[in-house]
Amino acid sequence: MVNFCPECSSLLRKKRFNGKYVLACRCGYEENNTSNEDDLKKKIEDKKNAISQNLIVIKEEDKIFVHPIVSKYCPKCNHNEAEAWQEQTRSADEPSTSFFKCRKCKRTWREY
Ligand SMILES: [Zn+2]
Ligand SMILES: [Zn+2]
Repeated sequence: MVNFCPECSSLLRKKRFNGKYVLACRCGYEENNTSNEDDLKKKIEDKKNAISQNLIVIKEEDKIFVHPIVSKYCPKCNHNEAEAWQEQTRSADEPSTSFFKCRKCKRTWREY
């Protein structure tokens, strides 16, 4: 990746500053490198938050299931938030069935 200074169009050079890498120009212009360690940590945190908000993790004996939360209207209470998963009901040749569980009244239903 090559970056040029927006001030004087010279080639920017990477330099280490306060534990972060910044792109700096000989004219004094400095640009924060977006891939520095703090940003990376923040991105990982954001991802963790997103996962904890939209997924349900179910522990069953030695297995762990992760069920996403989807926008589905519950046929019972009309709540628009359901846990979703798929199960192979009959033979492996047939397509799996989608199951939904209402986040509010806990009703479970299926869709083919
Ligand atoms: Zn410059
Ligand atoms: Zn419901």
